[in-house]
Amino acid sequence: MPSTWVPLPTDSGYGIDNLPYGVFTTDHEPDRPRVGVAIGDFVLDAGAAAHAVGATPEVSAVLDAPSLTGLMAAGRPTWRGVRAAITTWLTDPGLRASVEPHLIPRRDVVLRLPFEPADYVDFYASEHHATNLGRIFRPGTEPLSPNWKHLPIGYHGRAGTVVVSHTPIVRPSGQRKAPTDAVPSFGPTRRLDIEAEVGFVVGAGSELGTPVGLGDFADHVFGVCLLNDWSARDIQAWEYVPLGPFLGKSFATSVSPWIVPLEALDAARVAPPARDVEPLPYLDDRAAEPWGLDLSMEVRLNGHVISRPPFASMYWTAAQQLAHMTVNGASLRPGDLFASGTVSGPEVGERGALIEITWNGENPLKLPDGSSRTYLEDGDEVTITATAPGPNGTRLGFGEVSGRIVAAR
Ligand code: MN
Repeated sequence: MPSTWVPLPTDSGYGIDNLPYGVFTTDHEPDRPRVGVAIGDFVLDAGAAAHAVGATPEVSAVLDAPSLTGLMAAGRPTWRGVRAAITTWLTDPGLRASVEPHLIPRRDVVLRLPFEPADYVDFYASEHHATNLGRIFRPGTEPLSPNWKHLPIGYHGRAGTVVVSHTPIVRPSGQRKAPTDAVPSFGPTRRLDIEAEVGFVVGAGSELGTPVGLGDFADHVFGVCLLNDWSARDIQAWEYVPLGPFLGKSFATSVSPWIVPLEALDAARVAPPARDVEPLPYLDDRAAEPWGLDLSMEVRLNGHVISRPPFASMYWTAAQQLAHMTVNGASLRPGDLFASGTVSGPEVGERGALIEITWNGENPLKLPDGSSRTYLEDGDEVTITATAPGPNGTRLGFGEVSGRIVAAR
């Protein structure tokens, strides 16, 4: 990979090997969203740069746009061509004079929701997380349900409440009923939690009735973001039988503003953990190069690191999830979002939700400021970050997904 003429801070996660896409506005033009690409401490105004260098009409059309929808829908050959073009603009010294005026300091832009969420599906792919939750919710029984190692379990969530990082999260109200209560009560959740997850954003759609096989993953998935699946555990525990999560999850799901292209993640691909149950053929990835990803995640509560979930430990990969999600012929649309499920590793310090970290409140978490938490309090801020291996020993940054809890209304 050639080096960029853009000055990069040491250990910038936004080097020339990353080039994540987002959508931004400026204070000067708050009503004109534009496609941006992160490089160092700057955001490249991609549409303006395309015009400045005289890019092809195909490249200009998808970058000089108020959203990423056109680029996402265009498919893998266009994604590859556009990425190659942007790489040239940021590395060819002869183009510097044309491109540099379209670099905006990142602190001067407002990052918007990077895509228009179409459908939203959330999975449950960490064996450690599913085992911990089984032990907490169904003590004395087998923690994993009988289907867990045969199919990636998921549910359809609420696409309309997917929000970008830094959107305030209003504490939801609903029905709560502890096992010891005779009847449910109504009020603000007392068990507001996080789920540290990785989100996969679909670009190219598929035809209704035609499954998307394991090998077609990279033709449909545009890129990867970070995701916090906010969860009201008391509402969830009372409502989830027999149809699964509903109002305990649907009030808000936060995503990071940068989508890291799948092409940037070649060096991050790893084999998933050994599976002890043979999958059915449509989920069997043993013959192909599998899609485990070695993301190192960090979860901070009010600035303190409370967990370091390892994404490489996930039992089911995103390619298996996509294959399963479409095996019945359900079609894909640009903007479909599917999330990994809570990322929890085998160690206590690797758990991606407070319900596991505090064992449903039994073991409060002590924070360095002297306070302790079972679940989130009003005013608390949770931030999830991640990095992944890039080419030649570099690290790719995913930025952050952050949210602060505000009081119930
Ligand atoms: Mn979740």
